[in-house]
Amino acid sequence: MNREDFEILKEQVHGQQLVYLDNAATSQKPQQVTNAIMEAYAHWNSNIHRGVHHLSQVATMKHEDARRKVADFIGAQSADEIIFTKGTTDSLNALAFSYGEVYIQEGDEIIVSAVEHHSNIVPWQMLCERKKAVLRHIPLRDDLTLDIEAFKGMLNIRTKLVSIAHVSNVLGTILPIEEIIRLAHEKNIPVCLDGAQSVPHMKVDVQALDCDFLAFSGHKMYGPTGIGVLYGKREWLEKIPPHEGGGEMINHVRWSGTTYNELPYKFEAGTPNFVGSYALQKAIEYVQKVGFEAIETHEKELTEYCEQKLNKIEGIKIYAINQPKAGVISFNIYNGSSLIHPFDIGTLLDQQGVAVRTGHHCAEPLIDELGIPGTVRVSFGLYNEKEDVDTFISALKKSVMILS
Ligand code: PMP
Repeated sequence: MNREDFEILKEQVHGQQLVYLDNAATSQKPQQVTNAIMEAYAHWNSNIHRGVHHLSQVATMKHEDARRKVADFIGAQSADEIIFTKGTTDSLNALAFSYGEVYIQEGDEIIVSAVEHHSNIVPWQMLCERKKAVLRHIPLRDDLTLDIEAFKGMLNIRTKLVSIAHVSNVLGTILPIEEIIRLAHEKNIPVCLDGAQSVPHMKVDVQALDCDFLAFSGHKMYGPTGIGVLYGKREWLEKIPPHEGGGEMINHVRWSGTTYNELPYKFEAGTPNFVGSYALQKAIEYVQKVGFEAIETHEKELTEYCEQKLNKIEGIKIYAINQPKAGVISFNIYNGSSLIHPFDIGTLLDQQGVAVRTGHHCAEPLIDELGIPGTVRVSFGLYNEKEDVDTFISALKKSVMILS
């Protein structure tokens, strides 16, 4: 599927043809995105919003077009609900500060889940430390699905926010967010979704889901690094204060005090990444042209094909096997009762040109709970093919033979 658009896929690594299976960490970029970055710097680079001159107006228009594109892409009611950030981590930190400033008091509780990325744990821990609040997590059942019954029991009048991954970056599992949102909303508790691993792989519609906030990164969805999004329902964004001060986010600044700009600028202090937003728009257009129906079908097929092949390898342990996934598989291989270290497998795969990720995947609490040092993780993008899986599997078998 459209491999020709991704120049990097022609690269050789250690004299071998690259097989890139680390898309959950970051995706590769099509030429439509890299060309957009070149075009911006070559033809209309200029600081936005403040200038009366032509280039500034062009750059401003492109940045605001991109905002409208993002709003349309995730089904937001208005472009004012789209805040450009540096990425998911930045979005979650911004929310933790802003929301936390007003709505979290001593003794309040915030709920995350056992599978979270550090980005959806640490900002809340920092907030809880500042405010003497409590961070709780929804536990897992033995089959690594979320224990929804336990979640129901955790919701109480002190619960002030639920912040949860849509898709686990370690297990690849799609979490039951519809149910989580429904249960939280029954108690008037807002829900933030960490969409870092879902937005690139499936249609995410914030109004259909009725989530209150959504965070995601451009670089995991074929866009550039350094740009991401925090979506928030207008009613919330209007009630929470800015997390950073500086230019652009102000209405007036006097020695006696500052008044803040309207949405979304209140949350965008300083010169925004307007080249990034333009290139993100191109990435969205690219994804929309391929279409989520095709992307989901293709990635599901690849995941199932890969799981089946992996499952035939002696000593394999695939985590959350056969559960609905969004293009991510984590596994370990045992030689008898001893685990072959994922890092060793990753290193030997790399020597054969296959890029996978090994380790704790920035989700140490989950890896601790699994009682392992880490996993080997393969993750697919829209350009991966069954041949990539075949090459990976034969390289894996060779690696295991060497390590056993
Ligand atoms: N959440 C999840 C589920 C992720 O997979 C990642 C990236 N691995 C992040 C948050 C952080 O994203 P970023 O590094 O782009 O801010």
